[in-house]
Amino acid sequence: MPTENAGPPRDKQALSSPTCCGTISEARYAVRERRESRGHQPWVVRKLMVVVTLGIMGYTGYVYAGRFAVRLLHGGRRADGIGLLVGWCPLYAWMIWAYIKVIITPPGNARDYVPKTPQPLFGPGQWQQRQLYTEPEDPAPDDASLADIEAGRIGGPAYEDLSAPSAAHIPGTSLPLPATNGHAAGVNGHPNGVAAAPPAPERKPSRHRTPRGRFPPTTAPLLPPHRWCSRCSIVKPYRAHHCRICGTCILKFDHHCPWIGQCVGARNHKFFLNFALATAALTLYTFGSLLAFTIQAGAADVDPQEVVIIALAALFALFTLSLGGAHARLILLSQTTVEHLAVQRMKEREREGFRDAGVRWWEVGEKRRALAAYDREWGAPDTEGNVWWAGSARAGWEDVMGASVWGWVFPIGAPRGDGLHYSPNPRFDADGRWRRRSEWPEELR
Ligand SMILES: [Zn+2]
Ligand SMILES: [Zn+2]
Repeated sequence: MPTENAGPPRDKQALSSPTCCGTISEARYAVRERRESRGHQPWVVRKLMVVVTLGIMGYTGYVYAGRFAVRLLHGGRRADGIGLLVGWCPLYAWMIWAYIKVIITPPGNARDYVPKTPQPLFGPGQWQQRQLYTEPEDPAPDDASLADIEAGRIGGPAYEDLSAPSAAHIPGTSLPLPATNGHAAGVNGHPNGVAAAPPAPERKPSRHRTPRGRFPPTTAPLLPPHRWCSRCSIVKPYRAHHCRICGTCILKFDHHCPWIGQCVGARNHKFFLNFALATAALTLYTFGSLLAFTIQAGAADVDPQEVVIIALAALFALFTLSLGGAHARLILLSQTTVEHLAVQRMKEREREGFRDAGVRWWEVGEKRRALAAYDREWGAPDTEGNVWWAGSARAGWEDVMGASVWGWVFPIGAPRGDGLHYSPNPRFDADGRWRRRSEWPEELR
């Protein structure tokens, strides 16, 4: 399929527009064009960061053990030197072990499990179904694969065409918003065809429109046409996504990590978290001990290379702690990074909805009440609004980290999930659209 037709018509029109918005659109179009035309990164380039990372690890080892500890041993502080090394060496070995495990374990290549097939198309009726709850003016893709839809490279119509129905066709939320601070109860500001709903009793003149409510994506991500990867010519397994850098579809794609030179996916996500934990432990130990001894030694006796390692250790400690914490949280929520971004985008649209409705930034209570109303109607985005849910936090954790507690800490064992089979969240319909709480199975409401 020719890539020069990839851009949506909206952007092309903007190319001739001399306005500020036109210029921004033009820049975005150019970036997308460039991205489309670029193939995946060569193997050597992808693996270069592994060499750099190993270099940083090697240098840290040299400075800590080969300079700092040796200086203590030879400087009449033998007990201190040995004591520090007894704590440091196992942490260093743990980190190297986890790193080797995460770089040699492939994340899982979807093409190894799914045969090449022709492009599937939407069945009769599937086109109409998708028009429910569509939120207007939202060209944001729901997940990484939607870039393919935007580019018109997957089955069915382009995403741009899906997301811009006329406002009159959009059903409003069924739940009245709480009547607070001039907010009318009901959905009178909503573009649901109720052009002039009767104004609700108000204490002061309304300067607000009613926020538009919660609009989960209407794309049905589980339908085979939406799971088609035109680059790999496969219908992607559930949760698999195409990595542009690796040039292939990855099972339960989480993200592409430059530090390990490959993707984090179904098979190596566990080792990635083991590595983050080990690195956090080592860098905290290195930072604490080096800093304490450097301060004790005084300014006259400072090794500049140790100062470099103190700074590097602090930097990587912050990085791995926040990264590891964020990943642990998402694993407990049965979310991947890609899926988390889709949830974040929905929250961002809701914040935009408040801004558009004239709700000021300090009106926190008002926003909280509106969000609580959305949550009552739909469920909470983070815990109930992801199409995948293992059933419990524990099940989500074991799916990635394995059943053994030792495997949660050390790079041993394997994830429990096979990377191919996942049960969709019962709060979603069979095609993967989020349903209102009233449509959930009885026991979940
Ligand atoms: Zn692919
Ligand atoms: Zn990748």
